[in-house]
Order: sequence, then structure tokens, then C-alpha cells
Amino acid sequence: MQLVQDYFCNMMIMLALLFIYYQHYKDENLVDTSSLKRKVTSGFFAGLAGSLLMIFGIEVGTNTIIDMRHVPFLLVTLYGGFLPGGVSLLVIQIVRFTFGVSVSSYASLVLIISLFIGYLLFRRWKVETKLKVFIMLIYSNIMFTLVTTIMIDIEPLFKINLLFWITSLVSGMMAIYTSEYLRRINHLFKQYQLSSTIDALTGLNNVRSFDEALNTAIQESNIKRKPLSFLIIDIDYFKHVNDTYGHTAGDAVLQQFGTTLRKSVRTEDIVSRNGGEEFTILLKNTLHQEELTIAEHVRSSIEEQPFKATHMETIHITASLGVATYPDTVTSSDELYSKADQALYTAKRKGRNRVCSTKELSELITK
Ligand code: GH3
Ligand code: MG
Ligand code: MG
Repeated sequence: MQLVQDYFCNMMIMLALLFIYYQHYKDENLVDTSSLKRKVTSGFFAGLAGSLLMIFGIEVGTNTIIDMRHVPFLLVTLYGGFLPGGVSLLVIQIVRFTFGVSVSSYASLVLIISLFIGYLLFRRWKVETKLKVFIMLIYSNIMFTLVTTIMIDIEPLFKINLLFWITSLVSGMMAIYTSEYLRRINHLFKQYQLSSTIDALTGLNNVRSFDEALNTAIQESNIKRKPLSFLIIDIDYFKHVNDTYGHTAGDAVLQQFGTTLRKSVRTEDIVSRNGGEEFTILLKNTLHQEELTIAEHVRSSIEEQPFKATHMETIHITASLGVATYPDTVTSSDELYSKADQALYTAKRKGRNRVCSTKELSELITK
């Protein structure tokens, strides 16, 4: 009965730690290309988890305790490779030696090193993850049997090994099912976060994050009394590109157009795709005169840039721009969008491929 209680306690600790770990790192799953810091901290966490499982071990006979310390060690090596696995091994073994230096602590060192080598080899194997972990657990169990048979004198050997094989397989498989599930949830969460703020085609801000950025910029400009400039850009005769080369080619051009816009302004400027072939740029702390220079630079960059419509064909396109600046050309920052849009309309009417500002608009109206 004690055995069942101990085992249950071990499983609960392991599952709770898995949830805490994945909750903490919900933005990014551990992979080969993760940062150094991420790998070291994950290895450390797995090491602590392994140590906790060792402390709350399962009593299987007088003076004999088995535990599941290899399970977090296996997972972290599987996902992150040598570095996190190595850190976790070090932590577990240091904690093990603080319990006392004896034949069995050296046996545990031999066991954990042999597991590490095996895990590093198995992780490269191109089979389904759960099957791979099953094989890795069988390997762990075989190594456990070998080490307990050859290196230490424990009794009753058969019973201890049988219990280890069962508990290791059950908790290991439960851990990998939980872990894979939590990784999938985290991945979906990240995808959802990205798709709710980023335009999938161009990688620019989408209309939702544009709205947020515009509201924040307006508030900032009012509080700090700094100018705020705004540009709306619409590709000229874009329908013609679609009609001539097809919708897929149109998408490719839009994607390159996004890159051209991003490259032709400063890093702090906020570039968004507001829908279809309409884009906007927010220029914080920028006066109207500066804005006109930037807008002209954007316009000429587009005009000069060759766009690949298909593998074979390159085309040239132009765009019209409407610009407005608070407080230089509009009296209220809330009017930025509507006034820049009106200016864009004027640019289209005047013949396209040009920059128009709200100033010119008021001149036009008075004429
Ligand atoms: P104008 O100079 O007056 O702006 O002419 P235009 O043809 O660019 O303007 P119009 O608004 O008539 O057409 C815009 C076209 O943009 C129509 C639509 O098929 C195309 N479009 C909008 N969104 C996308 C998209 O995501 N991909 C592609 N390929 N085309 C798009
Ligand atoms: Mg257009
Ligand atoms: Mg349009």
C-alpha cells in the first residue's frame, strides 16, 4: 500500500512540474535552435525536477528506493540535446552525491552517463516521438537492470527490477503524452497570438495592431506634445496586376511591396497592411516637412524597384500616397486617418504616382 501511495505521489509531482514548466515557457518550446539561456535554464529545471523525484522516491524494500529522476532528464535531452541534458545530469548527480558518497552513488553516476549517451543517440532517430520515447525508456530500464545486477548488491533484485520497469514505463509514457500535449497547446497559442497581430502575407502589422498602435501614438503625441505624422499608401492600378498575371502573382507582388516599404523607412516607424493593397506608416515625433521627404523617398523606392510577378517576369508598379501631420496639417490627431485618406484620394485624382498632403487639399478646396 505504501508503494502505491509513493508511486501516486511521484506521478503527481511529475505532472505538476510539467505544467509549471510549460506554463512558464508558453511563448516558445525547447528545440535544438533555442537560445543558450533557454537551454541552460530548461536543463536546470529538469535537474531540479529529477532531484525532487529522487527525494520523493518509492520505497521498494528495506533501504531500497527507486525513483523516476530519469524521466525529466530524458525529456529535456530529447527536446534540447546535449546542453540542457548535460546541465540536468550535473544537477541530479550533485544532489545525489550530497546524500552520501557510496557504491550506489557511483553506480547512479555510471547509470546516468550511460543513459545520457543513449538518449543523445536515440533523439536523432527519425520515428514518431512517442515510439522513440518508449524505446528510450526500454533502454533506460535495461541499463538500470545491468547496473543494479553488476555494480550493487540489492535485494530482492528481481522484485526491484520488475517494479522499476513498470513504474518507469508508465510514468515515462504519461510524461511524454502530457508533454507533447502541452507543447502543442503552446504552439497553437503562439500561432494564434501571431495571427491576431501580424498580417500573414507581408509580416507587417495587421489592421488590429495598427489600430492599437495608432491609438497609443495619438495619446503619446497629446501627452508629450510631439508631432505625429501619418501616411496612407495605395498601389496604383493593382487590379491590372491581378488581371494580367493572376492572383498568386498579385500576392507575391504585395509581399515584396511590404518588404520595400519596411526597408524604405526607419526601424521605429510603424508599417501596417490595412487591407488589400492599402498600407499605412505611422511616423512618431516627425514634422510635416520631414514626413514629405520620407513619403517622397517611399514613392521613388517603389517606382524604381523591380517586382517579381512570376519566376520569369519582372514588373514595375507605382503607388499614391496621402500624408497628414498633427498638429502641422490637422487640428486634431483623431483626424489624421480621414485627412490622409482624403489626400490619397486627391493623389489618385491628380494622376497617381505622387504624394499629396492635407495642406494641398485645403488649397484645392479654396481654388
Ligand atoms: P487605383 O489606382 O485606383 O488604386 O486602382 P486599383 O486597381 O489598385 O484599385 P481597386 O481598388 O479598383 O482594386 C484593388 C485590387 O486589389 C482589387 C483586388 O483584386 C486586389 N486585391 C485586394 N486584396 C488583394 C490580395 O490580398 N491579393 C491580391 N492578389 N489582390 C488583392
Ligand atoms: Mg489601388
Ligand atoms: Mg485600394
